[in-house]
Amino acid sequence: MKIARPNRDWAEKVYLIAILQGMGITIRHFLANLVRPSRMETLQYPEETKDMPAGYRGKHRLTKREDGSVRCVACFMCATACPADCISIVAEDVGEITDKTVEKAPASFDIDLLKCVFCGMCVEACPVDAIRMDSGQYTITDFTRKDFVINKQELMAVEPALPKPNQQK
Ligand code: SF4
Ligand code: SF4
Repeated sequence: MKIARPNRDWAEKVYLIAILQGMGITIRHFLANLVRPSRMETLQYPEETKDMPAGYRGKHRLTKREDGSVRCVACFMCATACPADCISIVAEDVGEITDKTVEKAPASFDIDLLKCVFCGMCVEACPVDAIRMDSGQYTITDFTRKDFVINKQELMAVEPALPKPNQQK
């Protein structure tokens, strides 16, 4: 099918009005940023970082018991729920953990962050609140692929994000 060319007058053909409209918007933002720099949307990253909203899913962490041991009971619920199949767990008998209701613990617990889609299904699936994504860490960088596979010790070392001043009770 042949499409007819639009009928444009000379003003539209030189795009002069559109260029002036675009320049007007640019100048308006430029002047507004000069007058009220505090309302500028741009962050001076990485010196400045954005505060993440409550519930934001950042880098995972494994929570700990009061004695510092891992809370995870190696039930594999998170690995089963994970749609990206990026959680690898090897279970072991607990041994030194004093809580007799616990039968297993993870000998190893790895997450491949390059496969992870940060859906939060692992957090939802965990029956003992052993895995969380409340670290607030969203810039995860490294040099090699294998460096993005974080192990149990690294996951236990991740700290929760501090609550923002207006969230403190
Ligand atoms: S956030 Fe989603 S994709 Fe990532 S480890 Fe958890 S369940 Fe898997
Ligand atoms: S993190 Fe939670 S769901 Fe995953 S294996 Fe440990 S206890 Fe089970």
